[in-house]
Amino acid sequence: MFPFYTSLSLLLLFNSFSSSFARPNPRTLITIIPVSHNNATWHEFERFLDVGKGDGVVTGISELKSYFHQFGYLELRDTDMNFTDIFDENFELAVFRYQSKLGLPGTGKFDSITISQIMSPRCGVRDDAHKLHATEHFNYFNGKPRWSRRTPMKLIYAFSKNNWIEHLDINDIKAIFQRAFVRWASVIPVTFSETIEYHKADIKIGFYRGDHGDGRPFDGLLGVLGHGFAPKSGRLHLDAAETWAVDFGSEKSMVAVDLESVATHEIGHVLGLAHTSVKDAVMYPSLSPRTKNVELKLDDIEGVQDLYGSNPNFSFSYLLESDTSSSSNLKLGLRTFRSKWSHVNVPAKEMTYLIDPGGSRSKLSGPNSSELMA
Ligand SMILES: [Zn+2]
Ligand SMILES: [Zn+2]
Repeated sequence: MFPFYTSLSLLLLFNSFSSSFARPNPRTLITIIPVSHNNATWHEFERFLDVGKGDGVVTGISELKSYFHQFGYLELRDTDMNFTDIFDENFELAVFRYQSKLGLPGTGKFDSITISQIMSPRCGVRDDAHKLHATEHFNYFNGKPRWSRRTPMKLIYAFSKNNWIEHLDINDIKAIFQRAFVRWASVIPVTFSETIEYHKADIKIGFYRGDHGDGRPFDGLLGVLGHGFAPKSGRLHLDAAETWAVDFGSEKSMVAVDLESVATHEIGHVLGLAHTSVKDAVMYPSLSPRTKNVELKLDDIEGVQDLYGSNPNFSFSYLLESDTSSSSNLKLGLRTFRSKWSHVNVPAKEMTYLIDPGGSRSKLSGPNSSELMA
């Protein structure tokens, strides 16, 4: 079925995770999918299942420390050249931080849920807000950077002609990005338009392989999928090595990644949003293969509107659901993080939001970024 994939490796998929969140059963979370020998993903971390501080020296655990370092949870001390294989207190604290930031049960160990999250493909941007007990929602980059222009704000974007992928139709890619930009533009007073003059564009989009000169090399199939830079850089890069999918009907690969989901997420970074802890929000850092997550959730909307204000044509209009239907949503995996939130649909815009049954938007106002940025 996948002739060029010669090995079977383990990748723990979150689809099964969502419904198992309340009472995890480690062995039922594992789904086997084929991945290449040559990819640089994190599937080998499965061997660290159930490891914790009590295990002392764990051969190879330094690789996991590097992962935690890469995403902003663990610093390399000035006196050290490399990470050691000792599962010490400092590393345990980093694990607690990671679990807190990603909305996982805080065990300080590499339980199955934590390992499955670590192995899941994700955005390459660091999860910088990682203080324990940090507020569990949207976040900004350090200093809360944003685009500043006269209103109505207009930003122009362009695609790099030299950094492209061949296996997708250019018109499909352009249509995907247009939809992704419109989604953000529908909630904030900012418009986006494409230009062919790449050097003049505010937002520069391209597909890159490996080390591409910005200090954040891509790693091949799965692993890091892409990254977007904080304002006012405007750089939006996608890993050319991924099996990007326009739709899963025509792309059957088990490792296919939904381009529109990643595009929407990275545009959030380009606008100034960092990663959220709300699992089904667009700005959550990970995305399983063959999964689509393109609709902005209330957490995404509150975050970006705190930066730019609201689009005058946008209004929060919602239906409250009973506790019973919220429970159904949990079973359906529509939401898994905050039990006080309900899932609602806004038919007029065909968008799906999460709303606070208390109806108070003030409860959802943004955190002090300096407070969260460690
Ligand atoms: Zn990201
Ligand atoms: Zn890059």
